[in-house]
Amino acid sequence: MNISDNINSIIHNLTPSVTLVVVTKTRSISEMQEAYNFGIRDFGENKVQELMEKYDEFPDVRWHFIGKLQKNKVKYLVDKAYLIHSLDSVSLLEEVEKQYGKKNKIANMLIEINIGEETSKAGIMLNDLEELVKAIEKCKFVKINGFMAIIPKGDEKMCRYYFKRMKKLWDEFSVENYQNINMKYLSMGMTNDYNIAIEEGSNIIRVGEGIFGKRNK
Ligand SMILES: *Cc1c(COP(=O)(O)O)cnc(C)c1O
Repeated sequence: MNISDNINSIIHNLTPSVTLVVVTKTRSISEMQEAYNFGIRDFGENKVQELMEKYDEFPDVRWHFIGKLQKNKVKYLVDKAYLIHSLDSVSLLEEVEKQYGKKNKIANMLIEINIGEETSKAGIMLNDLEELVKAIEKCKFVKINGFMAIIPKGDEKMCRYYFKRMKKLWDEFSVENYQNINMKYLSMGMTNDYNIAIEEGSNIIRVGEGIFGKRNK
């Protein structure tokens, strides 16, 4: 199967309310071109440097930043990132507020939740979420559009368990009226579990290997 066939078979089963972000990290421009020619306009990258190198090749793409965001790189994403999926600390929030404020631009972000409470993984711990929300409410240049999660590895039952917990948290936030927070997106599900994620309420899936094949580690 080639790249176009893979994309076709994924989007064939998607309802219009679900966005496929094609995860292009480590992929060449020509591989990305095939996805682009198919009609894909949402690309996901996890390194700022790589996103910047590819940015000019695809003028009308929405770039999703999905990786760990280092504070000293935030300034490069202003004007370039359509949605930053990986807000996970107050200190990162403060840097985004500062850098976007300098250019009088709004940063659209998702809060990345460490739903499995795994110390090895990125994302904010549930215990720290309240403090982050308080800080977000004071911002002028940050809008939160939902949540992102990378769930722990496990079987289907485990996946469902964590996706359900994310959906519940997302629903709880949806009925709150926090300043600067509007629950539009729930970004969860990757190559191996995106179907389950959608069944459990995801509306952004992030798929890489399922489209381009295995990445060279
Ligand atoms: C790499 C990556 C993906 C895509 O993973 P695949 O297994 O290739 O589908 C999704 N989300 C994040 C945050 C990633 O870093």
